[in-house]
Amino acid sequence: MSLDLPRTEPRSLNPAADEVRQRLEHARTTRLAQLKALDDTGQNPGDHLMSNQKDAIKRVLTEIDEAFARVEDGTYGTCLGCSKSVPPERLEILPHTRYCVACQSRAA
Ligand SMILES: [Zn+2]
Repeated sequence: MSLDLPRTEPRSLNPAADEVRQRLEHARTTRLAQLKALDDTGQNPGDHLMSNQKDAIKRVLTEIDEAFARVEDGTYGTCLGCSKSVPPERLEILPHTRYCVACQSRAA
């Protein structure tokens, strides 16, 4: 029994990055569960509403993957539209978001 190994893994210089990864991981798990739930109830694969929903979820999953990459390269939390910091409150609600509120509403 060797339980005396150090439990700390210094794999990240930025302590906030781990929290962000956890948040993104949680977001991904939630979306994958939604996708699975849609598949499970999918008695009608040609249903447009359902395929729209699935497409939307898949799009978010792609954005989550991209957000993971941005955590790695250190650009996470920077708006791709105006290069300013996205407010932390917004990142808490939408951890995968690429834009601040102003740029998002301009894009929409
Ligand atoms: Zn912006």
